[in-house]
Amino acid sequence: MTSTPRRIVTDSMLGLGMPDTAVWSERVTVVLGQNPGPFTGPGTNTYLVGTGGRPLLLDTGQGLPAYPPLLEQALHDVRPSDGLQEIVLTHGHVDHIGGVADVQQRFGPLTVSKKPWAKLDGELTVHAVDDGSEISTEGATLQAIWTPGHAWDHLCWYMPEERALFTGDVVLGAGTTVIPPDGDLGDYLDSLRRLLTCDAAVIYPAHGPAIRNPREKIESYLAHRALRDEQILAGLRDGVHSVTALVKRIYTDVPEFLHGAAGMSVTAHLRKLERDGSVRHQGDEWHAV
Ligand SMILES: [Zn+2]
Repeated sequence: MTSTPRRIVTDSMLGLGMPDTAVWSERVTVVLGQNPGPFTGPGTNTYLVGTGGRPLLLDTGQGLPAYPPLLEQALHDVRPSDGLQEIVLTHGHVDHIGGVADVQQRFGPLTVSKKPWAKLDGELTVHAVDDGSEISTEGATLQAIWTPGHAWDHLCWYMPEERALFTGDVVLGAGTTVIPPDGDLGDYLDSLRRLLTCDAAVIYPAHGPAIRNPREKIESYLAHRALRDEQILAGLRDGVHSVTALVKRIYTDVPEFLHGAAGMSVTAHLRKLERDGSVRHQGDEWHAV
């Protein structure tokens, strides 16, 4: 079957600007990690959560020197503050965990709560939390939802007081999530379906602006992935058998320097399709079944 695949047009992190700090609600202030880039957009969003003088800090950025002073400033701007209660992490990728040491140096030996994963935690001692764990602070509660796929240790955090969902890297304010080689697209899609059941009113992502239409956004992510499957299968049927050639065919509007990441995404789809029994491969050559 020869077909012209439909195109997927997504918004992009490239060139997206955000202020260094912003108050997003009575309970939530965002502080940018000062690590902008093609994969982090304006940088990692770190969040002060709670209404008291010692809020939670959700994620810590990458460990860049400009971040701790900005965090301290944000704390004092929002309310009289005597520091942080503790650090909570969505997952162990460096742009989320990398700032822990600097924050602890500035604010003291704070507890760091995350789902443990030796592969990413390194030397860091973590307070183990997992699906269903709750962390409370004045005015806010965070409830952990295990959402593997982008990273095995990934937790999203639901805050019932605002029906707000902190999605880390599972749902982004712009663009789509990378599924790295140690990730799993099948798990990721299951995680998205699970997030749909939260009935959130707002998503606070780890990169990019807040999302005010969570259900639509998550459904569009699922549709995007289904369409990508179709495009890949159409390519295989048209005689395009390598990941590189599939990327060239499908990602026509993506700049070449992002083709490595696109290749990672195509590979993640092929691995999922292989498990579904829709494709097989010999070495680097992929074929539709
Ligand atoms: Zn990540």
